[in-house]
Formats: sequence, structure tokens, C-alpha cells
Amino acid sequence: MEVTKLSIQDKLPLTCTRSGTCCHDKNVLINPWETVCLANEKKITPREFRDLYCDFGGIRLKFKGKPDSNGKQACDLYTDNFGCSVHLGRPLACRLFPLGRQIQNEEVNYIFEGKIFPCINGCPSVVDLPLVKVEEYLKQQKTIHFEAAQDAYLDIMQDIADIAFMLLLDTQLAESGETNTLKQWRILGNDEPEILAKKIGNEWLDYLTLPEIVDNWEDPIAFTQAHTNILHSKAQVKIDCLQTNLELHEASVLMMGIALFLAIGIGANKKELVELWIETAKNNGAKE
Ligand code: SF4
Ligand code: SF4
Repeated sequence: MEVTKLSIQDKLPLTCTRSGTCCHDKNVLINPWETVCLANEKKITPREFRDLYCDFGGIRLKFKGKPDSNGKQACDLYTDNFGCSVHLGRPLACRLFPLGRQIQNEEVNYIFEGKIFPCINGCPSVVDLPLVKVEEYLKQQKTIHFEAAQDAYLDIMQDIADIAFMLLLDTQLAESGETNTLKQWRILGNDEPEILAKKIGNEWLDYLTLPEIVDNWEDPIAFTQAHTNILHSKAQVKIDCLQTNLELHEASVLMMGIALFLAIGIGANKKELVELWIETAKNNGAKE
């Protein structure tokens, strides 16, 4: 995907026309902390929110609402003649749009997709409204906590992938010369999100998308730390029971599936990630 990289000093037509164009026919991915923020705005439980408003097992908002004049369906959280029904709790993707946030080699860049400013397509009058610096726009949109949550979930994704590596490389599994684990990792990287969600299974899907965290949930750092602890303790219980190579293989594949599922929710490219991880595993003695 071609992107335009931005400096935070760039001035762009970021004054929204408020037409709701970008609340139609979009791919809005969310992380578990954002699910809690959105559920809170709707005054329902995270589970109810996931079941009512999400697909892909809880990491994407549903866009099955009333179509606009071009037949593009609205986000299910969009209300006609009003706008976003969860404005204060809206996720990072919505706060940033038409911008995006790209993290490569630990460097963060703000971007927009393509070479032409995205709003011009659906809202051409945006060019007549005041220009805004990227830096100012981020402040207006109050992205800071949401960016912190995205960064923390990136770390959690890597943590879970590390468990998958450990089960393959630090046990007798890789030494045994087995080749099926990396093969299954690659299949997971190519699976559609719904298939991946099914492979993970409801129990782990719930640990991942609906962690039971009540205290300090407004603080993304406290929340993601508590979520890390939950995932680690659940993984440890599983690891403690493993004995055979088949069990190690299955656990490694499960952990990789969970890491890749989380990768989708934070907007990472899971195909590229899994290829990178397979290469790393091979360089450390695993076979395919
Ligand atoms: S496309 Fe741009 S200008 Fe139009 S509603 Fe969305 S953010 Fe606002
Ligand atoms: S969550 Fe709100 S801002 Fe985001 S797409 Fe849905 S209605 Fe639009």
C-alpha cells in the first residue's frame, strides 16, 4: 500500500466537514482496551458490545448500518442526522482518520494512504476549510491515551509470539527436526480473521478480547499491564501441562495464532509479520 509520510508540522485540510462520509464502508480495527472504552460509552458490558457491534471475533467494528446515497453501509455506531454515537470513546482509527499511524523499527510516522489526501474523494469541500497542523490535530482528537494503548498491545503481541518461539526453540521440539510448526504458523498468517478466531477458540478469544479488568480501566497503561498478566498466567497454566512434542507443537501454534490475531486488531500486517518470525525461527534452528 502506497502511503504519504507526514511531519507533525505539516499543515493539511484536517478541518472535518462533518458529513459522516468516513463512517461508511470502512475497516475500523480495535484493540481490547478500545472495546472497553466503546462499551462504556454505550453503557453496556464489553461482551455485549463485542457481540452487538463487532465482527472478526471482536477486533473490527461492524459496518452493516443504513447505506448512504452511494450505497455504502454505515458503521453500526453511526446515527443518522447525529453522527458517531460513541464520540468520546471512539477508537484510535477514527480519531486519526484521514491520518494513520505507522510503526516501523520502533519509529512512529503519521501517514495518509495514497498520494492524494483521502478526504478529497468523499468530501471535496474540505479544501475550503482551515488547514491544521498534524501536531494540533492529534491534540484536538485526544489521541495520546489511544496511541499508548496501541503501543502496549504491540508489546503484548510480541510477548505472546515470544512464547510461541520459546515452545518451539527452547524445548526438544525444534531439536527433534519436526517441520509442521512453522508450516502451521505460515497458514495462520494467511488465514482470514474469522478462521483465525475459530482456530484460537472461544476460551482464548475471551482472554484476549474481554479481559476481566475492572480497576483503573480508564488508564491504558494500567489496563494493558493487567491484561499482560492475565495472558501470561493463562499461558503458564497451559505450558505447565505440556509433555509430548505434539502438545508443544499445538501450544506453539496456538500462541502464534493469538499473537497474529492481536496483530490484526492493531493494524499490523500479519502476513509480513509471520514471514519475519518464521525466518527468525529458522535462523535459530527450527526447520520447515
Ligand atoms: S472524509 Fe474527512 S472531511 Fe469527510 S467526514 Fe471524514 S474526516 Fe471529515
Ligand atoms: S466508531 Fe464512530 S467515528 Fe468510528 S466509524 Fe463508527 S460511527 Fe464513525
